[in-house]
Amino acid sequence: MLVDSYDRVVDYLRVSVTERCNFRCQYCMPEKPFSWVPKENLLSFEELFEFMKVAIDEGVKKIRITGGEPLLREDLDKFIKMIYDYEPSVDLAMTTNAYLLKGTAQRLKDAGLKRINVSIDTLKPDVAKAIAGKDVLKNVLEGVDEALRVGLKVKVNMVPMKNMNFDEIIEVLEYCKNKNMSIRFIEYMENKFASKDISGVKSPELLAKLKEHYTFEDEGFDGSSPSHYVRMKDAYRFGIIEPYEDDFCKKCNRIRLTAEGNLIPCLYFDEALSISKAIKSGDIKAAAEVLREVVRTKPEKNRWGGEDGESSSRAFYETGG
Ligand code: SAM
Ligand code: SF4
Repeated sequence: MLVDSYDRVVDYLRVSVTERCNFRCQYCMPEKPFSWVPKENLLSFEELFEFMKVAIDEGVKKIRITGGEPLLREDLDKFIKMIYDYEPSVDLAMTTNAYLLKGTAQRLKDAGLKRINVSIDTLKPDVAKAIAGKDVLKNVLEGVDEALRVGLKVKVNMVPMKNMNFDEIIEVLEYCKNKNMSIRFIEYMENKFASKDISGVKSPELLAKLKEHYTFEDEGFDGSSPSHYVRMKDAYRFGIIEPYEDDFCKKCNRIRLTAEGNLIPCLYFDEALSISKAIKSGDIKAAAEVLREVVRTKPEKNRWGGEDGESSSRAFYETGG
């Protein structure tokens, strides 16, 4: 079992399989990137799988595949199947923008994927285009329908932003409710890659607006989920992710692996240790030691909203959010 210095059990690994993306969401990526990590620096799926085995053997029970956009990486279903065949009880999930899901959902489900989180920030094609930098909405919505059709569980993530999509929170919530999908509103987290024009919405304002339409009660955190849940009168639950809140990190159970093999103990911080050398040389013991060390050094809290300012130098597209 992996336990950090604050007695938190770490059993959730988020794996970014690529930092590349077919979108340029204003809150995540600069319009003009920049240099991607050269492909030869990425760990192959075989190498990543070697580390998945180490992590599972050490006590990881949930693996989420993310990115960048994970569906850009070829043979993702084969990677999922490797993990599933090694330990079918692992809770295998993926976070995706859904643009490429229509043609791939069935294969991913057959490979062992159980659940997906999809980013839907708007139901208006022009707003989706403004946020993502291209005309994406039709593909995204068709991808979601396909995922539901093949039997994947789907949760939706929405980042509400002023003068952008805040006026759509009811519509997006209703869309999710009608399709029996849960929605989580994620507070925009400042980072140096995002557009300067973005202004996020904090939860009091969000809840006040939702209260104009619904009656609901606060249910608090659910297990180690970063989301705090709210139950509406008709029993539909939605979540709010508030990384600026004091108790956000109390139950954090996750660490992150980048496509290059950097193991990161907290989304906010720059600190990371590489598993690349150990894995590439087949030194499983050394890889396990890096994993334990990263868990040991996991900080008590992120620093969003803290004394050092609110902006992280970590790129969400690199760490997978
Ligand atoms: N490309 C996939 C997607 O968009 O779902 C997976 C990677 S994306 C980095 C993972 C999550 O991070 C998405 O739900 C996205 O909305 C969220 N995210 C990215 N930048 C963010 C920011 N600055 N603040 C809050 N959430 C952010
Ligand atoms: Fe790509 Fe996801 Fe970032 Fe949007 S949020 S740019 S889809 S990685």
